[in-house]
This record gives sequence, C-alpha cells and structure tokens, in this order.
Amino acid sequence: MENMIWNPRMECMSRDEIHEVQSERLRAVVRRVYENVPFYRNKMQELGVSPMDIQSIDDIDKLPFTTKQDLRDNYPFGMFAVPLSQITRVHASSGTTGKPCVAGYTSGDIDRWAENMARSMTCAGITKQDVVHVAYGYGLFTGGLGAHYGAERIGASVIPVSGGNTQRQIQLLQDFHATAIACTPSYALNLAENIAAAGIKKGELSLKYGVFGAEPWSEGMRERIEDMLGIIALDVYGLTEIQGPGVAMECPVKNGLHVWEDHFYVETIGKDDKPQAYGEQGDVTFTTLTKQGMPLLRYRTHDLATLDAAPCSCGRTHVRMSRITGRTDDMLIIRGVNVFPSQVEFALTRVPGITPNYQLIIDRVGTLDTMEVQVELAPEGMEDTVRGLENLTRRIEEQLASSVLVHCKVKLCQPGSLPRSEGKAKRIIDLRKDKKNI
Ligand code: ADP
Ligand code: ZN
Repeated sequence: MENMIWNPRMECMSRDEIHEVQSERLRAVVRRVYENVPFYRNKMQELGVSPMDIQSIDDIDKLPFTTKQDLRDNYPFGMFAVPLSQITRVHASSGTTGKPCVAGYTSGDIDRWAENMARSMTCAGITKQDVVHVAYGYGLFTGGLGAHYGAERIGASVIPVSGGNTQRQIQLLQDFHATAIACTPSYALNLAENIAAAGIKKGELSLKYGVFGAEPWSEGMRERIEDMLGIIALDVYGLTEIQGPGVAMECPVKNGLHVWEDHFYVETIGKDDKPQAYGEQGDVTFTTLTKQGMPLLRYRTHDLATLDAAPCSCGRTHVRMSRITGRTDDMLIIRGVNVFPSQVEFALTRVPGITPNYQLIIDRVGTLDTMEVQVELAPEGMEDTVRGLENLTRRIEEQLASSVLVHCKVKLCQPGSLPRSEGKAKRIIDLRKDKKNI
C-alpha cells in the first residue's frame, strides 16, 4: 500500500510555491526578531541590515548567523521573541559547558511541532490505526514529547513508555501489540537483540514501522534493525534549538530526509561561511520560518550533510538532506545525548584533589554507548586511603552528573600517567569507530 501524505498541499508544492511561501515567512520572522530580540536587532544593525532589505529568501545571506555561543550568552531566556507569559513549554539540550541550550515554545509552536511530527510519522507509514510505542526519553529532552504529540495528532494509540527497563519494554511490545516504535537507533538494536535473546520470533510481535533518530546511524545498522525486527526503519532528524525531532524525515524511498521547508529554511554553509551549492557538503544551517517563541536566523548546527532538491518519487517536493555524515565541532553523541568534552572539563575543574588532565574513553557494549572519564590525581595533597579515593570518585561522579546528562564511569589515575602528546592533547578515544560493522 502506498503511504499517505499528511499535508499534501504543503508537502507537494512546486519549488516556485515553496520559494513564495518561504519569502513571505522570512520577511515576517525578520521583522519579528528585529522588533523583539535585542540580540538580533544589534547584530543586524552591526551589519547595516534592516528588515526592509529582506524581500525574499534570496536575501538570506544578508542576515547574520546564530551560534551555540550566542544562545549561551543569552541564557536562559534572552533569545525569546515573546514575553514569558506566552511561552507554554521549555525544553533544553546539552550546551558546550555547564549550561544547557534552552528552547521556548508558544502554544502555536507546540501545535506546529505536532504537525511536523505527524507529517514525519505519516511519511513512515503510521496511521490512526497504529499503536505507537514511544521509547525516547520524556523530559527536557525533546525526543519523547515530540514523538508523543506527533503520534497523538495522527490519532494513533500512543504508549508513552520513555527510556530504560528493556525487559518491561519487551513485555509491553508483546502485550499492547505496538505496530510502530520511536526511539534512538542504538536502543532499537538493543531491543532487537534482547528480543532475540528471549527467544521471541519477529513474527510474534506486531511491529511494522520504526522512526529512529537523535544520533547518527548507518545503512548497515538500518539493515540489521529491519532484519531483526521485520520492520521498515526510517531516519528522523531534529535539534532542540530549532524544534526537536521532525525538522526533517526520511521517506520510504530511503534517499535522504525531506526538510519541512515551509517551516525551516535550510542551507549548507562551507568553510568560507558561504552557502554551498546543492550536492556540496557543508554545515547544516537553519532559519526557522514560523517559530514564535524562539525564532532563530541561520543557526549553525555543526552537523555536516549535503542537500538535493531533485524531485523524489514519493511525491514530496521538499529538499532532501543526506544522512548526517559528521560534525564540524567536537560534540559527541552518547546514547542520543549530546556531550561536549568542555562540559566534562568544566565539571572536573570544580572538584579539588584532581588535575584537569583527563581522557574520555567512549565505547560500545553490545549496542549501547558507554563513557569512561579517566582523570589524574593532583600530585600534592594526594588522596591515598581507599576510603578517600572512593569518596573522591563519588564527588567527581556527582559533579559530572550535574553538568553531563549521561552516566559516566570515573577512573582515577596516578599523576602524570595519562599520555602526553606534543601539541594538542588527545582527549577522546572513541572505540566505537572500530566497531563500524553495524
Ligand atoms: P535530539 O532530540 O534530536 O537529539 P538534541 O538537541 O539533543 O536533539 O540533539 C540534536 C543533535 O543530535 C543534532 O544536531 C545532531 O547532531 C544529532 N541528531 C539528531 N537527529 C539525528 C539523526 N537522525 N542523525 C544524525 N544525527 C542526529
Ligand atoms: Zn521522498
């Protein structure tokens, strides 16, 4: 059966119509941020640009970029374009140091987000007949609530399981006959392996569709998940600053993710800070065209990808983004959660008795990522009793837990024992890279 299209009028517009809609919405959003966000008014004045200079989407490169640092400088609510009384929801994801990146939504933003996720899930084949098992985390992280509202908008039966407790998840998949599942791809594979280990055959589950995202994954991983669970597995992309999941969604053609261009204008920016032609890899950069709570102009995600606006056989006309092929910064994604080495460093500087000489060992046990923080003891005033070392380890773990949102194991090392290299220290050892077979 051919998949339905949630909103054919918007998803199948001609490229000319897309240009028209984007131009009109860009004019409006530029006016809004100029009037309501001091950060943007100052930036535009510095560049000598006024809202009158922005007549169509072709004027986009007159506008300033926005960076993670800008969000940090305006933490927590300085980028909001409406009074707090109109903000009905706040989400956050990891920032580069102790402070998270915050996003504020009006009720209209939440409504559009639900629409975009409904589009995305419909794109995967999900309809109101489906039972959707949401195993993304619920909370400040956008995954859980994003998938939840989208599935609910379609009219599907939503099971808000959230993350963790794999045996219970398997029980619920069996008992509630979920036909679709939304979670990170690594968790999907973990579930698949546990299902196989429990001796449950794929025919005994009712699953048909998987909507997986929040972290990079490969074609090989897709094949394995599809084969083990007997489903079609598609890629969903998003980020908190722009909306959360459902900024772009892969269609069943499996040839890129359609970026919902009536809401998000996407560019790929090259090393020279100029927009690249379609097909050229660059830093994926979004301008939100309809956000009210926290509109962003030309937000640099640091995700690397290419774009393709050629027609897609699914009938949708929105530009397709390749899978994310890498990052331009040092952000790590551990179990779908963003982690910056600078966050770890920040946490370590707050604990006396150790040096900020550290190394992160990222690995994968089974299908799940692990992170170990190895840190050197300070040469002076060294803890030497077993009890003292245990307490120190616990203090470091507590400090890490408050600034890094994933669990990290701590290993204390003798002073001077971590490898020194000439020039830049090698802080990150990512052993997952050697396990590319999935
Ligand atoms: P999310 O809830 O989507 O993980 P975050 O704001 O926590 O949102 O993280 C956003 C980042 O996660 C993106 O900039 C990107 O690096 C990564 N990410 C999200 N979805 C995907 C995906 N489908 N493929 C690769 N990376 C992704
Ligand atoms: Zn398509």
